[in-house]
Amino acid sequence: MKFDTVVPDDIINGSEVTYAQGCPITSLYIHVPFCGGKCSYCDFYSIARPDDDAMRMWHRGILLELTRIADEADANQVVLAPLDTIYFGGGTPSYVPPRMISSLIDHARSLFSLTPSCDITLEANPESVDSPLKTRAFGIWRDAGVNRISFGVQSASNQLLLTAGRRHTAEGAAFAVTSAAEAGFRHIAVDLMTGLPGQTMTDIEDTLNFIDSLPVDHVSSYALSIAENTPFYHLWRDSPELFPDDEREREMTHTITHRLQLLGFEHYEISNFAKEGARSRHNLVYWHADPYLAAGPAAASYMAGMRRCNPAGIEEWYALMEDTAGGPFSGSTVEETISEAEACTETILLGLRLMEGVTRERFMQRHGIDFDELFGEKLTSLERRGLVFRNAGCVRLTARGLDFADIVARELV
Ligand code: SF4
Repeated sequence: MKFDTVVPDDIINGSEVTYAQGCPITSLYIHVPFCGGKCSYCDFYSIARPDDDAMRMWHRGILLELTRIADEADANQVVLAPLDTIYFGGGTPSYVPPRMISSLIDHARSLFSLTPSCDITLEANPESVDSPLKTRAFGIWRDAGVNRISFGVQSASNQLLLTAGRRHTAEGAAFAVTSAAEAGFRHIAVDLMTGLPGQTMTDIEDTLNFIDSLPVDHVSSYALSIAENTPFYHLWRDSPELFPDDEREREMTHTITHRLQLLGFEHYEISNFAKEGARSRHNLVYWHADPYLAAGPAAASYMAGMRRCNPAGIEEWYALMEDTAGGPFSGSTVEETISEAEACTETILLGLRLMEGVTRERFMQRHGIDFDELFGEKLTSLERRGLVFRNAGCVRLTARGLDFADIVARELV
């Protein structure tokens, strides 16, 4: 993504090394591009029902990429620190043999070292662990160091799950989440979706009751976004009336927010809710616009002031990892240097996703300038329309701004 900005670099009081270049990296994202099928709304890069060879190739490729990232960090001015978060995302990380996950954690530990409280999250789909035989995976993940599982639950309606092309049932999700807790996982997150075709307020209420019955301490709630060339895109083009309109979708979001707060979840980011001490530490790195490492096909990283994205094709990506002549970043499909001006825009855009917003102190520490000097006029216009709140300490979205966060973002770039 290119961040256009109106802020000339030369008015920013930065040193030669920008904040993003000098900030030590403490987070690693590992992309697992495999799934048991394709959901009706998904346009992410993922291979449905891969064979064993593809998974072995992926595993070997990640080992190579991690080694090369560590080897070349110096040359790329990457300041590495012990990792404080590792996130296995996808795709469906729970789809690959659990021992592959443990060997990658061991490899990362040997290369980068991990902090004693390193948060290691693994995304899982309920169908990977929805029967007693399959739950042996929990023990392997846990013993490898995974301490947080994030389940793609999406809804408690089996009809909606079927429509969305999900491969689990509500009963399977309940079994998976409960089994994770029984296996000793204290941090369990679930994802929900709004805006599904045919979804009603009753479905939302049922899903919230379902969440309330489970041992989860983090909930993410995302509105469906309709991507071209997906089954839902064709359905929407032919029968848009099946999808909740904007007003109904806002009502769903408000209901979820209100109810989760009553259940003791703090609304800490536009789409995220956590019990005390259960915020997603890895995702906070993104919202704070801090740098992070990434490995795997289609994985995006932010290192040494550069945003890069690996090729979205397992064979193309693996060939790059095997090519000892090129660095791990030599074949990135997107490679963009983030100027200090663009970094300022990212800090404000991503920071406004957090309920606490962006503090002046933090912005000044990072960029050596007050955000009002860069964005003052735009913030005043947004403030007049009741979309942002600003005081001596911070700027943040208002309740109305949460509903129109996309407008705020568009006006700030
Ligand atoms: S599980 Fe996730 S990545 Fe896989 S097809 Fe469904 S939405 Fe896409």
